[in-house]
Amino acid sequence: MKSTGKVTGIVSNLVTVECNGPVSQNEICFIKVGDTKLMAEVIKVNGKSAAVQVFESTRGLKNGDEVEFENRMLEVTLGPGLLSSCYDGLQNDLTTMTGVFLKKGEYTDPLNHEKLWDFTPLAKEGDKVVAADWLGNVKEGWLDHKIMVPFSFKGEFTVKCVAEAGQYNIDQTIAVLVNEEGEEVKVNMTQKWPVKVAVKGYKEKPRPNRIMETGVRVIDTLNPIAEGGTGFIPGPFGCGKTVLQHAIAKQGDADVIVMAACGERANEVVEIFTEFPELIDPHTGRHLMERTTIICNTSNMPVAAREASVYTAMTLCEYYRAMGLKVLLLADSTSRWAQALREMSNRMEELPGADAFPVDLSAIISNFYARAGMVVLNNGQTGAVTFLGTVSPAGGNLKEPVTESTKKAARCFYALEQNRADKKRYPAVNPIDSYSKYLEYPEIREHLAERIAPGWVEMVEKAKNIVRKGRDASEQINILGDDGVPMTYHELFWKSELVDFVILQQDAFDSIDALCPIERQRFMLELVLRICDAKFEFENFEECRNFFKELINTLRQMNYSEFHSEAFENYNNQINNILNNGK
Ligand code: ADP
Ligand code: MG
Repeated sequence: MKSTGKVTGIVSNLVTVECNGPVSQNEICFIKVGDTKLMAEVIKVNGKSAAVQVFESTRGLKNGDEVEFENRMLEVTLGPGLLSSCYDGLQNDLTTMTGVFLKKGEYTDPLNHEKLWDFTPLAKEGDKVVAADWLGNVKEGWLDHKIMVPFSFKGEFTVKCVAEAGQYNIDQTIAVLVNEEGEEVKVNMTQKWPVKVAVKGYKEKPRPNRIMETGVRVIDTLNPIAEGGTGFIPGPFGCGKTVLQHAIAKQGDADVIVMAACGERANEVVEIFTEFPELIDPHTGRHLMERTTIICNTSNMPVAAREASVYTAMTLCEYYRAMGLKVLLLADSTSRWAQALREMSNRMEELPGADAFPVDLSAIISNFYARAGMVVLNNGQTGAVTFLGTVSPAGGNLKEPVTESTKKAARCFYALEQNRADKKRYPAVNPIDSYSKYLEYPEIREHLAERIAPGWVEMVEKAKNIVRKGRDASEQINILGDDGVPMTYHELFWKSELVDFVILQQDAFDSIDALCPIERQRFMLELVLRICDAKFEFENFEECRNFFKELINTLRQMNYSEFHSEAFENYNNQINNILNNGK
């Protein structure tokens, strides 16, 4: 029995409803407004009265309007066809429409019901299966999309039959299972899952043990993110958060990418729409969009839809992870999501926490980040969701609640610095404040030694130290003047500039420099460290400066040349000559 109710109060998108039956937290309901129905979510229940958050504009809504409760939470539909799609936070398909916006009260179907998929069975009659076990496979693009026992199934089932290899649409039965009570249940290619509940259905969730390569030096070399790891990029407006995230989306070593564009400016979202379908995947030469799903909500969409979008995106990621795939989730920006939480909590007149954010902001953010991770599936294979979010702190203040709460939840921190962005030192990641806690994991250090080079972490530590010492030296030089400090200060400063210009800086818009594979990162760091280790004897600081300027120029030319091309090797020989002849 579904409950119903009547509208008794409206404050913007927050509507109070007098209910005549039981309703539960996070339940979905529809409010009838003329011929349309507006979707809403219950966010608070108090006796017979429920506060519901409407997902779109409430203009025209009035007291007395009828409400129907659905007796289910906000769900996503999962199945083949999610990739290459653009959805809003409620999984309305945005590609089927002209323009980015839906008509009020219009909800579209997220998946195509006519399309036929090439199915091959993986399970057979008599198999014992549980939720998330694989029953069959369909080709989605060139990815193997597993058709699973729905996540919501409880207990053990026996496979009665599985469809033969062939073409089926998502609604056709592809397996019949029998539960412990002997009842038959049919399974097709789709299932639904409530977005705010983490998908289980795996054996264990161990610590990540390898890195996700991104081709971005400040990440892979300096502070790598683990496969199944979490990180965040805080930075003031215009410092390069979006550019950095897009570089990672394009180049990151993942099977599936989910981009959650959460409440940033509308024109940026339109950019994603136009830019992403054009992008070519540097790993396969195919369209990147074939293995990407975009979830977007701009800041002009209602807050509740914004809040939903990050959960919808995460649920899609967990679905693909359960197939044994490596999934990368990017959210830009999680500050807009937190602001949505703030707006809702304020409208409900809850006791506010710091900066009027909800008191449990930290817990909400931590719970969300905790859904990422590497998992071992029931069949022993692994899957991973790696999550990277951006945070846009007002005025670049890293002490504000969203940044602080995210810092507690995420293990990598890539702080973008206004000062570096102003100097066009891109990506403007601060090399001293940023960190990756994965570098402390013995299993990650082992992996790096094996994947890149023995002693790699120590080499990276050395490079970071050079940057730190260079900063100190530069301060001394600024205060005491070029002639007031010993020559070693100039040397320290220029060595740090060398690391900065050659390793830290990377042109995201150059066809070669944009993507720096691990082997190349190793080559460049070794070369830079060899230079830093060399003994120099300079007559005066001008000589020191000119010498390093020339080296930096040559090494930058190397970054812009194809790895091991003739030009690259020529520059490399020049450097070797200089090092051999000494200075
Ligand atoms: P944010 O998302 O932080 O507001 P954007 O990512 O839009 O900032 O970056 C702003 C501008 O900075 C970009 O349009 C670009 O010109 C420049 N930029 C940022 N990162 C790089 C980079 N790695 N290489 C070259 N230019 C960059
Ligand atoms: Mg941006």
